Amino acid sequence: MQLTIVGSANASNAAGRRHSCYWLEGALAGERAGALMVDFGGTALAGLKELGLDPRRLDLLCFTHLHGDHVGGYPFLVIDAMYDLRREAPLTVVGPLGVEERLEGLMRVCYPSLATKERPFQLRYVELAPGESFAEQGVEVRGFPADHQDPPEQPLCLRVSGASGRSAAFSGDTRICAGLMAAAKGVDLTVAECSALAPPCGAHSTWLEWQDAAAELGCERLILTHLGEDVRAKVPALLSEGLAGVRELAFAEDGAVHSV
Ligand SMILES: [Zn+2]
Repeated sequence: MQLTIVGSANASNAAGRRHSCYWLEGALAGERAGALMVDFGGTALAGLKELGLDPRRLDLLCFTHLHGDHVGGYPFLVIDAMYDLRREAPLTVVGPLGVEERLEGLMRVCYPSLATKERPFQLRYVELAPGESFAEQGVEVRGFPADHQDPPEQPLCLRVSGASGRSAAFSGDTRICAGLMAAAKGVDLTVAECSALAPPCGAHSTWLEWQDAAAELGCERLILTHLGEDVRAKVPALLSEGLAGVRELAFAEDGAVHSV
């Protein structure tokens, strides 16, 4: 599989980077073998176009949770698909409980008259509770409980097991927690958030906490993402410091491509 980091910043677009989201090639099998994405923040569509990634190739869009920096670009994706790209291929959207209601609500807020118009492509929503998985076209997407929001919200860490047998975990936004560790155990690459150098940083993970937790990750390749200004400013120093138990540490950068 091949991972393109479309965006690598937190909600504040720290250091001028796009909201965190990811484009994954080679996860899906079959005739079309399109791309899979994880999250789609407000800056995602601009990112795809800047990077030369055709949104029509997107077959499976997976959301970790329903905060704006992870879903805010969704109306633009749909509008672009309806009117500019004239998409015909079906699109499947997988996300936490309430994903359809929230995203269709977002459409109604942004474009009231268009939200109810018939779309020229099939749009299907699939809800994923923690512990459940979605499997189709050779890929399995499994949800694990993230520690980021209070009930009734059920944010997810995701494990994507591709048709090729390779796998990757995505933390979404979360404190370092058992669900994240379970999602990452044994995968080929983990993409996990590191929103600040140290707490307090809300319900997020920080470099200080990763220093304690990385050795328990069960995955030797780690990309830290969702970076805040303070982390971004210290990337060279943090890279040379490294994390115990992590053989290959990287910090996410917009447009970077990694093999999985
Ligand atoms: Zn976020």
